[in-house]
Amino acid sequence: MSDDRFHIYDTTLRDGAQQQGLSLTVADKLAIARHLDTLGVGFIEGGWPGAIPKDTEFFKRARTELTLNNAQLAAFGSTRRPGLHAAEDPQVIMLRDSLAPVVTLVAKSHHRHVEKALKTTLRENLAMIADTIGFLRAGGQRVFLDAEHYFDGYLSDPHYAIEVVRTAMAAGADLVALCDTNGGMLPDQIAEIVSAAIASGARLGVHCHDDSACGVANTLAAVDAGATHVQGTANGYGERAGNANLFSVVAGLQLKKGFQVVSGDRLGEMSRISREISRIVNVPPDSHQPYVGASAFAHKAGLHASAVKVDPMLYQHIDPLLVGNDMKMIISEMAGRASVELKGRELGIDVTRDRAVIGRVAEQVKDMEARGYNFESADASFELLLRTALGEQHEYFTVSSWRVTVERDANGAVTSQASVKLTAQGSTTVAAGGGDSPVRALDNALRAALEETYPELAGLTRTEYRARVLEAPSAVTRVVLECADGDRVWSTVGVNQDVITASWEALEQAVTYCLLRAGRSAAPAACLVPAG
Ligand SMILES: [Zn+2]
Repeated sequence: MSDDRFHIYDTTLRDGAQQQGLSLTVADKLAIARHLDTLGVGFIEGGWPGAIPKDTEFFKRARTELTLNNAQLAAFGSTRRPGLHAAEDPQVIMLRDSLAPVVTLVAKSHHRHVEKALKTTLRENLAMIADTIGFLRAGGQRVFLDAEHYFDGYLSDPHYAIEVVRTAMAAGADLVALCDTNGGMLPDQIAEIVSAAIASGARLGVHCHDDSACGVANTLAAVDAGATHVQGTANGYGERAGNANLFSVVAGLQLKKGFQVVSGDRLGEMSRISREISRIVNVPPDSHQPYVGASAFAHKAGLHASAVKVDPMLYQHIDPLLVGNDMKMIISEMAGRASVELKGRELGIDVTRDRAVIGRVAEQVKDMEARGYNFESADASFELLLRTALGEQHEYFTVSSWRVTVERDANGAVTSQASVKLTAQGSTTVAAGGGDSPVRALDNALRAALEETYPELAGLTRTEYRARVLEAPSAVTRVVLECADGDRVWSTVGVNQDVITASWEALEQAVTYCLLRAGRSAAPAACLVPAG
């Protein structure tokens, strides 16, 4: 179990799941919990047993299906209803029966919310807090209190807000997590209000939202002011603008503030875990997410690249490896020779000594980008270009011709038929293929023509197809094709006035790249150039 003196408390499964469009099954929740445990968080809030059937089931299944090495599970729930004893409130009983080692109780701490939303007296609200905590503590569970709307409440009535903190601590809560429920606070306000509550002698935590774009900054400000428990969600998931991003909070605490909140090798897993969780929740990863995003350490401008080549840390705030991320060069018309050299290195191709090739490729990229190509998201096309400039051979096949027809029948059904004539490893083939679109038909015909010579192409799948009409310099279409083969993913680009021809160019390159990665030799046995 992790150190109890400082808590990293994750609420992805409860508060994060409030994000619009995000819906988690119990299996998803169990899988996410395992990843969070691997990262080394101290607490995982599993949901609200009793109030949400899926959450009740989560706690039930977690008892047999979830082995946690670092984290403890926390059940979330509310203080008892006004006018009842805690022992009579079914919702509180369910919290006890969840058998979670920790219960996080949400309570009102803003006097107007007590009076208007809860419709009870300020005194009864304090009694509800004390009574519920006392009941759960008597059953042996630890209790954290989430003080809802604390910061807004403090600004409106500081005495009552502090009284909520005092009451919870006196009743046996481990700590009170002050919540910026509306997410509108700024770091200086957070620091001031946390400091005032610390003066009451309480152990404090903080729960921030990102509505003022300060979720992470506010969390770190609270820690500076003395909070020793931070709440957040994986990738900042949450309703509205999201919650404080727990990954940024952990990285900030550990790499910038000297806290040892997770072990160093766990921190190195963070980028992978971030991507895994986004895959489970089915929300595309934000490439610009700090620390863990695919573009978090991507350099595009040629000037940056020259400096990065001398010393990567000149343009980076941390070594990306610390969070399991990578520096990445983005090849574009802004790229200079240094970008080409660094991108080559990233792709495992050493071009350092070949100055002429570097210059030629940089010029070629500029020229092609002016015609509508874009290599930013087409690493495979760039790699083929670079390898070709270095004299490597990738002519696994030579296409003589292709054709495609699209037909709409009397019932309105649209189908495409394609044929491809090509020569591979010395033999010429003509093959046909059909599909529900011209690109699919061409793809099938190309595979049919190559399947005997290159059976490994059976594992190639097209995962994404994007076409965009560019206005300048003349109306052309750019197609970016993403393909995958097992766990490898690559993208290629094609440009033409005709969308089918642009697609074909991207397709031919995708197949060529697949064969290159498979270690195929480009020519009959006599060729000595290694293809891998
Ligand atoms: Zn919240």
